[in-house]
Amino acid sequence: MNRFIRRGFLGALAGSAAGTPLLFLGTTGRPEFAVAIVAGSMYAACVPPDRGAYADSIMAAAALGIPIWGITSVILLPVLSGNHMAWNAVGMQGHFAPLVGWILFGALLGGILQIVSEIAEIRYGPESAPASPPTSDLTRIVILGGGFGGMKAAAYLEEELGSSVSISLVSDTNALLFTPMLAEVAGSSLEPSHISVPLRSSLRQTHFVRGRVTGVDFERRVIVLDGTGTEGRELHYDHVIFALGAVSNYLGLKNVERLAFDFKTLLDAIRIRNHVIEMFEQADRETDPGIRRQLLTFVIAGGGFAGVELAGALNDFAHGIFPDYRNLNIEELCVTLVHSRDRILPELSETLAAYALEKMKQRGVAFRLGARLVDAQPGLVTLSDGQISAETLVWTAGTAPNPLIRTLDLPTDARGAITVDSTLAVPGHWRVWALGDCAAVTDSETKKPCPPTAQFALREAATIAKNICAALKSKPAIDFHFRSLGALCVVGHQTACAELTVPFVPTRSLRFSGLLAWFIWRGIYVSKLPGLERKIRVLMAWTLELFFPRDIIQTIELGGKDAHGDRAAIIRNA
Ligand SMILES: Cc1cc2nc3c(=O)[nH]c(=O)nc-3n(C[C@H](O)[C@H](O)[C@H](O)COP(=O)(O)OP(=O)(O)OC[C@H]3O[C@@H](n4cnc5c(N)ncnc54)[C@H](O)[C@@H]3O)c2cc1C
Repeated sequence: MNRFIRRGFLGALAGSAAGTPLLFLGTTGRPEFAVAIVAGSMYAACVPPDRGAYADSIMAAAALGIPIWGITSVILLPVLSGNHMAWNAVGMQGHFAPLVGWILFGALLGGILQIVSEIAEIRYGPESAPASPPTSDLTRIVILGGGFGGMKAAAYLEEELGSSVSISLVSDTNALLFTPMLAEVAGSSLEPSHISVPLRSSLRQTHFVRGRVTGVDFERRVIVLDGTGTEGRELHYDHVIFALGAVSNYLGLKNVERLAFDFKTLLDAIRIRNHVIEMFEQADRETDPGIRRQLLTFVIAGGGFAGVELAGALNDFAHGIFPDYRNLNIEELCVTLVHSRDRILPELSETLAAYALEKMKQRGVAFRLGARLVDAQPGLVTLSDGQISAETLVWTAGTAPNPLIRTLDLPTDARGAITVDSTLAVPGHWRVWALGDCAAVTDSETKKPCPPTAQFALREAATIAKNICAALKSKPAIDFHFRSLGALCVVGHQTACAELTVPFVPTRSLRFSGLLAWFIWRGIYVSKLPGLERKIRVLMAWTLELFFPRDIIQTIELGGKDAHGDRAAIIRNA
């Protein structure tokens, strides 16, 4: 039986058992009972059972009670019955009982679901066979990279081919990073684990290998991994998909590379957050106003989406934690965005980009447009038209395809990206495919180069998966074509810009700005975040953020000896 149908059925069963007490709660018990069954079924379908994890299951499902309460008891039922409850002291008492009821329902649902799932497993066997190590008689598909493209390719292949092939995914991190929300981690709105999706548990039939790819032997069809470990150093393939992403490109600026923070990985976001707090701590005990200003100046290079979103998030974060530092003066705080062109956000229309610039200026972000970053020294950032005294520099101004590509015998373009044909196969190589930020993909209809975004990487992954299936069934491959769905950018303080392509009229787009665009941004990205549990965590974090100040606890030691020793030196030299 399909695992989603099986889980949905068990969830409906658990939902009806856990929801039975609701039938006896006054006159509105019946609609709530129906909601309990639907919620149980949907929850179970989305969350795979984890054997023996009773406490986790109960806690996670109890947390689900809060959004169900909000949607059902606060919004839907009062609207449908025309019986609105006021948010005054009396009304609050009326809201409280259903809230407790739904949380108890959730906890009960989690417990019952765990029991019925385990009984079903004993009676009918596991949902799907656990990922077995690759065996030589199955076609071996190896995916390199566990980002958007790699994970989506594995999910599509699992869906299409199941256990008829051996799928392996190699990645140097064991989780998919949801980059659109990375700025929120740097700005302390979200916890790092909220935006990371574990690859092992998300891909049930894929053999996950945590390791760094160091080479590929195309003759022998072997992937070479670093180190030794239990996985061995080599992995054989029949089809290989390159999804290794991109790295920061410092355009030959050695000092900038040594001193600036990257903004690409989860660790980068964690470091930036902790560094900002460290700067506030140092500034708070500093008596020299010049050094205080230098400590509280945060320079971000690059006016694309990543740079603008980070500037907005850091500006909000800095203003949010400011009241905790009593010795500081708000005039000393400055987030500066440096961009080499005369307008930010080249990906958006001119009017929306101008709107973003104006809104950010109103919130205190400073801009140095038409200026290039040329050098950096501890405490000093040098631009083509002047200097800025700052202890913090973040680089988002350039990326390049994964440098490993250049070391392999693969066709590349001038940037070092793997060139592919219209079916995303690598010309001149047998059963080698490439996608995402490490590939130079051209749209087969528009003949335009595809941008390095998650939106495109996901669709390219689907095309490659279909083409591998076609190759296995000796059918013709399809060409890659996808039109962007639009672009979204948060500029801070509940403000965003959105440009969405009109469905079926790709030449036209709808533009939104302000609070509405911010809601659209949050709605779209939370819906795209993989996994129900993470969606709930993010929604809860965003809700809590409305009522409580941001966290200023430092979670990592920055002054120590680590891979970023030079970056830590900036702080020590302050
Ligand atoms: C801050 C930020 C915000 C962004 N916001 C958006 C957005 O809002 N919308 C959007 O569409 N796009 C956005 N992007 C772009 C998007 O993240 C990328 O286009 C997308 O991740 C590309 O997917 P990919 O699979 O090609 O590479 P990635 O997602 O980067 O995945 C590459 C994977 O390969 C692994 N890897 C690398 N080298 C090795 C090795 N040698 N061995 C093993 N594994 C390796 C990495 O760990 C990683 O798991 C953003 C990017 C950033 C940095």
